[in-house]
Amino acid sequence: MTFLEPLSFDMVIIGGGAAGFFTAINAAEMAPKARICILERGKDVLNKVRISGGGRCNVTHAEFLPKELTRNYPRGEKELRGPFHSFMTGDTIEWFEKRGVPLKIEEDGRMFPESNSSETIIDLFLEESKRLKIELFTKRAVQGLQQKNELWEISTSRENFTAKKVLVATGSNPKMWNLLQDLGHSIVPGVPSLFTFNITDKRIKDLPGVATNAVVRLKKVKLETSGPLLITHWGMSGPAILKLSAWSARELSDKKNFEIEVNWLPEYSPEDVEEELRLQKGEKAKQFVHKRSLFELPKRLWQSLLQASGIDAGARWADLNRQQLESLKKELTCGTFQVHGKSTFKEEFVTAGGVELKEVNFKTFESKVCKNLFLAGEVLNIDAITGGFNFQNAWTGGFLAAQAMTSGSAV
Ligand SMILES: Cc1cc2nc3c(=O)[nH]c(=O)nc-3n(C[C@H](O)[C@H](O)[C@H](O)COP(=O)(O)OP(=O)(O)OC[C@H]3O[C@@H](n4cnc5c(N)ncnc54)[C@H](O)[C@@H]3O)c2cc1C
Repeated sequence: MTFLEPLSFDMVIIGGGAAGFFTAINAAEMAPKARICILERGKDVLNKVRISGGGRCNVTHAEFLPKELTRNYPRGEKELRGPFHSFMTGDTIEWFEKRGVPLKIEEDGRMFPESNSSETIIDLFLEESKRLKIELFTKRAVQGLQQKNELWEISTSRENFTAKKVLVATGSNPKMWNLLQDLGHSIVPGVPSLFTFNITDKRIKDLPGVATNAVVRLKKVKLETSGPLLITHWGMSGPAILKLSAWSARELSDKKNFEIEVNWLPEYSPEDVEEELRLQKGEKAKQFVHKRSLFELPKRLWQSLLQASGIDAGARWADLNRQQLESLKKELTCGTFQVHGKSTFKEEFVTAGGVELKEVNFKTFESKVCKNLFLAGEVLNIDAITGGFNFQNAWTGGFLAAQAMTSGSAV
């Protein structure tokens, strides 16, 4: 039997995803002489980038104030504030533009490559890696990681590697979390972060496709989010729901059944609503209540909420009694819905959990537990709501890690 000598590099990047490639490319530019490789367990790299944003890759979000940007991270809000002062949205846009990939902003702030294709991002990363002579090893699942005499030894399903510095960018991979735990890190267990709510309820049963602005409350934890709410075939989705799922990911992780409250009229106070209903009763007494929706609410939703308040299709405003008006106000501003399950949000699936943030230096993204071990992307206990923020975390961490890994005389 022959024992092959390990392959020696200055930097080994574990994980050929968004954070891994971004770090490798920036490190190679900052330290052109450094020998850098990427180890990827799959036969292809950048798989999540390929399917991201429905195949369009929502690269970042047009939010240019660090503090405002951090508000989109249920986990990582505090820790990312400093890093965003060094590298955030504007830098991301410039980074891609300088390399021939201009980004465009959509109405809701999401930013995509102008080509509308995630392949543009993948092609860029692959071309840049080739140009910068970054060595790419696929089908190399990292199975062991240990530091001996200031040198990292990395064993894979095939050969072994050594490096002075290692970046772990393996996303939400439990096996890698176990290896990091063996090295002394604390791991916050992974739970889904972005999901939609399964709701079987007469009020929304016939309304799939209806969307409107709403405030959604999770009463138990006193949490509320606002934004567009989309009624689906199986329940509710849209930014208002996804934000709530992200912010309450941990509280809801072991719950299948819970209760939410929906305010379909976030722009009005309950007093305004009451006043308007009373006014209608007085001034539009002869008009059919179902005929014209109030408050610019989608008509089918308005009619459904009327039914739920015991107001039939033939009712005129004059017919409504106090109880019906009260019940309608309640349905409009704080209707309760029973959620009986969660569905993965297929557009962007993210896991909350990962390396405990207290164990990371956010100036460098270096582990405080192991010297010369860096961490970026979803391997950390950082995740965001949908909208391009998860990739921004990968770009920011990758850039700052690359800076730190190439600083000084080590490489
Ligand atoms: C369907 C979908 C759509 C999404 N769309 C968007 C979007 O439009 N915008 C956005 O901001 N976010 C989006 N996200 C989230 C985003 O993709 C992730 O947050 C991001 O990819 C995290 O990057 P990462 O490099 O940390 O991890 P990953 O992209 O998961 O990459 C980790 C890599 O490490 C490899 N790996 C794991 N273990 C090992 C090992 N032991 N050895 C070697 N390699 C290993 C994996 O195979 C993988 O290639 C989406 C996610 C999904 C699932």
